Amino acid sequence: MSLQGEVALVSGASRGIGRSIAELLGSAGATVVGTATSEKGAEAITAYLREAGIAGKGMVLNVADKASIDTVVKAVGDEFGGISVLVNNAGITRDNLLMRMKDDEWDDIINTNLTSVYRMSKACLRGMTKAKKGRIISISSVVGASGNAGQTNYAAAKAGLVGFSKSLAREIGSRNVTVNVVAPGFIDTDMTRELSEDQRNNLLHGIPLGRLGQPAEIAGAVLFLASPLGAYVTGETIHVNGGMYMA
Ligand code: NAD
Repeated sequence: MSLQGEVALVSGASRGIGRSIAELLGSAGATVVGTATSEKGAEAITAYLREAGIAGKGMVLNVADKASIDTVVKAVGDEFGGISVLVNNAGITRDNLLMRMKDDEWDDIINTNLTSVYRMSKACLRGMTKAKKGRIISISSVVGASGNAGQTNYAAAKAGLVGFSKSLAREIGSRNVTVNVVAPGFIDTDMTRELSEDQRNNLLHGIPLGRLGQPAEIAGAVLFLASPLGAYVTGETIHVNGGMYMA
C-alpha cells in the first residue's frame, strides 16, 4: 500500500482520527500536510510528523472559511507540489433536538461538515484533473446512515457527503480521480469521551464486536482507498463500525 510520491492533505489532523490518518498515510510514504485550527496545533502536527520521520508539516486551516481553504491549497502546492490525496476529516457536532435547534447550530454543522467538503474538493480538483490522478476521501459517520435523535444537523451533513461523493465520482472518473467515503461507527476519541458511562454502555450493546473502534482502524480504510490497492473503488462508502450498522 505504498504512497511514495503522493502528497496528502488531511484536515483536522491535530488529534483523534485525523492524526491517525496523517500518521498512517505518512508511514506509507506520502508527504503529509495535516491541518489544525490554531498555530500551536499546526506546530504540534509538524512535531509529530518530524518525530515519525514523515515528510510534510502542519498548517492552519479553517474548513468553514473559503479564503482559508484557498490559501492552504495554494501553499501546499507551492511547497510540496499538487495535492494527490485529499482527506476531508475535520468535523464537529452541535447536538440538539430539532424543535430546540437554533439556526446557527444547523448552519455551523452544514458549513463545517458538508460545505467544507464541496469547497476543499473543488480547490484540490483543479490540480488533480490536470495531473490526471487523485483520491478524495471524506469521513462521514454511521449517524448519516442510521440517524440519531438530537443529531438531525450532523446526520444531514454526514449523509450529504455520500450523495456528494457518488455524484462527483461520476463527474470525475474519466480524469482518474476516485471519490469515496469512510463512515466510522463509535470511535475512541475526544468526540466520544464526552459520553456518560450510561450512554457508552447503551452504545456497546448495539455493537456486535462489543467495543469502540480505534482511530487507526479508520485510518486503515483510508489508506486502502488512497493506495494502489483501492484504485478501482469509487463512489463507495466503507462502513467501519464493528457491525453496529450493516448497509
Ligand atoms: P475530534 O473532535 O477529535 O477531531 C476533529 C478535528 O477537526 C480536530 O482536529 C479539530 O481541530 C478539527 N476541526 C474542527 N472544526 C474545524 C474547522 N472549522 N476547520 C478545520 N478543522 C476543524 O473528532 P474525531 O472523533 O477525531 O472526528 C474526526 C472525524 O470523524 C469527524 O468528521 C467526525 O465527525 C467523524 N466521526 C467521528 C466519530 C467518533 O466516534 N469519534 C464517529 C463517526 C464520525
